[in-house]
Amino acid sequence: MRQHKLALCKEHYLEWVPEQTDRFIKKYNMFTRDEKILVAVSGGKDSLGLWDILVRLGYQADGLYLGLGIDGGIDYSHESQRLTEKFANEHNLKLHIVDIEKEYRQSIPVLSQMTHRGHGKPCAVCGLTKRHEMNRIARDLGYDVLATGHNLDDEAAVLFGNTLSWSGEYLLRQGPVLPAGDGLARKVKPLCRFYEREMTAYCLVRGIEYIYEECPFAEGSQSIYYKELLNQLETTRPGAKLTFYLRFLEARKSGELFVEKDMEQAHLHPCPNCGQPTSAPDLCSFCRMIEKVNSVPAS
Ligand code: SF4
Repeated sequence: MRQHKLALCKEHYLEWVPEQTDRFIKKYNMFTRDEKILVAVSGGKDSLGLWDILVRLGYQADGLYLGLGIDGGIDYSHESQRLTEKFANEHNLKLHIVDIEKEYRQSIPVLSQMTHRGHGKPCAVCGLTKRHEMNRIARDLGYDVLATGHNLDDEAAVLFGNTLSWSGEYLLRQGPVLPAGDGLARKVKPLCRFYEREMTAYCLVRGIEYIYEECPFAEGSQSIYYKELLNQLETTRPGAKLTFYLRFLEARKSGELFVEKDMEQAHLHPCPNCGQPTSAPDLCSFCRMIEKVNSVPAS
């Protein structure tokens, strides 16, 4: 790990990763051992790695898998669900599975086609649905906190995109912890300071079987492009990604960013249908999407 000027053997690496994670959990006040954590698991290395680490650290962590109905020629959803269930069974862990197609009559790609969102890619509908469902399940099942497996590469790419467009409101909402609000569960990212390759290494040495393939719709996405750019920077300047992210967090905390003002202007109120907060004048975006889909007669 050039950025830390550190090299570890397998045994010590498997100790180092959970130790660091626990340090970040405490540093950012993510949760305590008394709280119930819901981990959003996709079958990928980051979310399965996170679940494994939290359980090893002794936290009360259950899993949530969302079946998106994505095939893409590689049976992506089936394979990711199979690996998630395998992990849960092998470690005797509680896993909630929500099949979007069963809940809302359509898979994510079909919902996307029916609502004409996202210019032919289902990512906009997928992101909206995942956020809504994760929050709904965490709230309905009484979890204190929702944990996702976002790593440093994910966070730096989002930060890079938001900085390029100076998206003040998004910048202010980015961080290791998004506090609970009316109708919103607390969201945390305990892996936000780990490089993607560090999580890959953790899963490999720990023997966690995860889905290697990316979602077929990820190809050509802006976030992958930003990750490639940041990787080029990292090659010549080891630690650049970590510094970029950590300096941002420091600036945000000290109030140096212009974005503080933007947040005050965002007025949220509960959606009259699902109760989750929205800035839309009536129904939230998710409920509007489902209302539109339900108005189409079943073929
Ligand atoms: Fe959903 Fe796949 Fe797009 Fe990710 S890449 S938002 S999983 S459709």
